[in-house]
Amino acid sequence: SGTTRPVRILKYVQRCANSGDVLSVISAIDAYCSKVEWAMNVGDEKGAILDAVVLETRPRYVLELGTYCGYSTLRIAHLLAPGARLITLEMNPHYAQVAIEMFRHAGLDAQVELLVGSSSALIPQLRKKLDIEKFDLVFIDHWKVSYLPDTKLLEECGLLKAGSVLLADNVTCPGAPDYLQYVRNSPRYQSQYFPARLEYLQVEDGVEKSVFLG
Ligand code: SAM
Ligand code: MG
Repeated sequence: SGTTRPVRILKYVQRCANSGDVLSVISAIDAYCSKVEWAMNVGDEKGAILDAVVLETRPRYVLELGTYCGYSTLRIAHLLAPGARLITLEMNPHYAQVAIEMFRHAGLDAQVELLVGSSSALIPQLRKKLDIEKFDLVFIDHWKVSYLPDTKLLEECGLLKAGSVLLADNVTCPGAPDYLQYVRNSPRYQSQYFPARLEYLQVEDGVEKSVFLG
């Protein structure tokens, strides 16, 4: 077809969503992905859980693993207090380019710091690169095999503090069993499951909220 799904999503947003209106961008992505082509955004139902966690955590420093088209990034970004920072990591440069255009259309490109590269390479550099000590909230939504190694890497790099919240998407579908086993059994976390459905489908899924206890 000569185009990619992220580009088709972006084109739809540029045509149908009001420029500078983040909520209009979010709902245009949801409309396209529920009616035209499924895509791996967190979606509206789990997105509402994400929103609630952002609002209750009131984070100053947020890290997102896995940007894709920037849907969840926008959901988080527009709920942050002035001065808060949101860093999102995406290893696919084509997706990253689409996400940047999406942030621009939503008028939130100045609020988001997107780093292109793999999480395992970038996490150890975040401190120096960004001048950030610890993250208050981490949204984990990249490839599921990386949830556990990257969580351990965040711990080793000293990027978590007592009270840091990890929110992991898709822990039921496609599932991240080794990650769940770890956060649910480690005495260093207090972990809670929020059942929901997979984005744009009726399949069971859920997100896991895990508070790092230090
Ligand atoms: N969080 C997005 C949302 O809800 O709108 C969806 C992210 S999508 C499920 C996962 C993304 O993570 C893909 O774009 C993929 O390229 C990226 N990714 C996978 N493994 C990664 C890694 N180790 N480091 C950085 N990005 C990664
Ligand atoms: Mg997801």
